Amino acid sequence: MSSRRATSAVVLGGGIAGLFATRVLADQFDKVTLVDRDHLTGPNLLRRGLPQGHHLHGLLSRGQQITEEHFPGITDQMVADGSAVGDASNDVRWIINGKRLVQTESGLVCLTASRPFFESHIRDRVLALPNVVLSELTDISRLEVSEDGKRVGGVWVFPEGKHETLLPADLVVDASGRGSRAPVWREDLGYGRVQEEKHKIGMGYATRYYRIPDEAFEGNISVNTVASPSVPRGCICQKIDGGRAIVTAYGILGDHPPTDPVGYLDFIKSLAAPDIYEILQTAEPINDPVAYKFPTNQRRHYELMPDFPTGFLVIGDAVASFNPSYAQGMTVSALDSIVLRKHVAGGGPVDPLAFFKDLATDAIDGCWDMAVSSDLNFPGVEGERTPEIIETHEFISKTQDAAARDAEVSRAFQRVIGLADHYTVLHEPHLEAKILGG
Ligand SMILES: Cc1cc2nc3c(=O)[nH]c(=O)nc-3n(C[C@H](O)[C@H](O)[C@H](O)COP(=O)(O)OP(=O)(O)OC[C@H]3O[C@@H](n4cnc5c(N)ncnc54)[C@H](O)[C@@H]3O)c2cc1C
Repeated sequence: MSSRRATSAVVLGGGIAGLFATRVLADQFDKVTLVDRDHLTGPNLLRRGLPQGHHLHGLLSRGQQITEEHFPGITDQMVADGSAVGDASNDVRWIINGKRLVQTESGLVCLTASRPFFESHIRDRVLALPNVVLSELTDISRLEVSEDGKRVGGVWVFPEGKHETLLPADLVVDASGRGSRAPVWREDLGYGRVQEEKHKIGMGYATRYYRIPDEAFEGNISVNTVASPSVPRGCICQKIDGGRAIVTAYGILGDHPPTDPVGYLDFIKSLAAPDIYEILQTAEPINDPVAYKFPTNQRRHYELMPDFPTGFLVIGDAVASFNPSYAQGMTVSALDSIVLRKHVAGGGPVDPLAFFKDLATDAIDGCWDMAVSSDLNFPGVEGERTPEIIETHEFISKTQDAAARDAEVSRAFQRVIGLADHYTVLHEPHLEAKILGG
């Protein structure tokens, strides 16, 4: 008989980051408990704890790849259940600076579905794991910490209608989103204030669901008119599950799409290209537009802190949350889970400082720099425009122009924005010659 003590982990928050984390922890711990205050398995897929769930959620190609790696066969399953699928370039019409990018085979899968659809499919697979326990309708209360404040040994929670209860754990992973209380918990334990970085973008979304005849999409699964410095308004119109289409319009620095149906359409008419406005001429609305405001990019630099209690990690939006129009959040959560997998492999205690350093370099930094630097391309966004940033803006603008006339550049560019390839591929000599030679 084995004398090994059973190990357990608790994940705080059942959003995408929490689900990916639970998936990788289930390979290492005897029991993983997933805690969320919402009724996750209830009929209301647009749940209270996920207000962004109403709005368009693009899954970047790298995110799709990791999702498939964690849950083999899930792509086919989602397609069978109604997600649209296509090539990330050939079947998606990208319009940047008013110009259509060349559509060409990128070799990348693009799945388009609503956020609740993605989440419920991933959650079903996570909850099917034999050692995962769901504690829904359960509010997170506080950490259980050793007397010296150096080790977290679990978490106190309030299951609905019950007393405060301790969930003991060898590892607690906080995936409770932007409103995570980890900074306050840390400070209360005497670890000081975590360094926080914020960049104001004043982003506003408005989303409406439609029924749109297939022909209007002209063979595409998504039409994306991207905001650019000359017209800082954007919109995405894409096929999703349930035979529906989702249309999310957005604008920055207070220039937000209205939610009255006439004003909403007028906003879409004012974009740099008429494509989505024309598609909507044959569309039948399902609901009225719904708004969402996203004030700032926000990052907590745990990797710069000199100390952190053991037995406790933070991931997902609780660490970094990005301008949603770049569609990075779910994919960064997927990348976070790869870092987590590496650090729990072997079963020993996790070194939190080493974890946060890898999380920064392997999952967050690239996307964060891309988001913050891209935002600075818009006049009015505050922040220092260093010579490197200006040079990057000029190079990206030339790349986008070249992608509108050259299939190879378009393919490479799509693979970079889908996070499937590193940005540096655009500087390979034959591509750079095409980009700069234009
Ligand atoms: C408007 C908008 C559009 C977006 N579009 C995209 C997109 O196109 N593509 C993309 O990849 N990403 C997008 N994102 C980002 C994406 O939603 C997140 O990055 C991603 O879901 C990871 O979030 P998370 O799991 O860390 O946190 P969340 O999704 O916020 O999940 C946190 C969970 O914790 C639970 N919770 C919180 N507090 C408590 C508590 N006290 N007790 C119990 N439970 C609690 C909540 O109920 C929730 O389920 C968008 C975000 C917004 C705001």
